[in-house]
Amino acid sequence: MIYLLIGIIGLLALVLIFKMGAAFNGLPVLNYHKISAAEADFLTVSTTQLRQHFEYLNKNGYTTLFISEVLEHVEQKKPLPAKPVMITLDDGYRDNYTCLYPLLKEYNIKANIFLVAGFIQSPDNNHVSPNPMGEFMSATEAITMSKDMVQFGLHTYTHQSYSKLSLPEIEADLKKTRARLQELNIPVQPCHAYTFGAYNQKDDQKRQAMFELLAQNDVRLAFRVSNWVDKLPVKNKFFISRIHVSGLFPFWKFKVALWGFIKIFNRFEAMLK
Ligand SMILES: [Zn+2]
Repeated sequence: MIYLLIGIIGLLALVLIFKMGAAFNGLPVLNYHKISAAEADFLTVSTTQLRQHFEYLNKNGYTTLFISEVLEHVEQKKPLPAKPVMITLDDGYRDNYTCLYPLLKEYNIKANIFLVAGFIQSPDNNHVSPNPMGEFMSATEAITMSKDMVQFGLHTYTHQSYSKLSLPEIEADLKKTRARLQELNIPVQPCHAYTFGAYNQKDDQKRQAMFELLAQNDVRLAFRVSNWVDKLPVKNKFFISRIHVSGLFPFWKFKVALWGFIKIFNRFEAMLK
């Protein structure tokens, strides 16, 4: 039993050393969802926690990046700053405008929000009200944020899982999502975030066909959630890793996540339980 434990710890140490490379020469992409002035939960980070995160990034010399800057790096090999980090938020909740946006300005931090186009509030939107997922930002709020601290990307029309759709259905959804954002005058980057963090993890062929479809539809970067930090240069621009930041993380766990060790840490923690 003791040898087994030593073996497991040794193996973990090896993975850790291997992963250190990504942490020191990688692009951490943090993934948030809701921001609240009050309570935190799995998908909601409180403004108090977010201030801690932003203070840490600024004090430790991190530079936050827009999608467009990462795109220039990937496509034109434009160099990135020494400690790059991407802040991303999924879905386009209204609290991103009310709670996140003031903090972005205060800390001079750039963020990227992946919008569910059909959920954006506008005078002509009669889509599911109230929405069971939460309250979503208005087109006017999105346009305001796009003027300084925020860039936007695609996150489907009604939060469908692309893993459950055929390629023609995905293509139709991409087109519909883009058209809606254009109709609302919301500027959007050629970039997509997979809903539910993933796309056909097990079917390589289908995944490859999906990447080709994205490329044909002028999607030039796509993000998943894998809780790793990808090493630079980015190996697969249609499968960039992001790290889920939970409101249940104590501050030290946020640091572990930022350094790219949260997956290893979670596995280790689960083994000890
Ligand atoms: Zn989502």
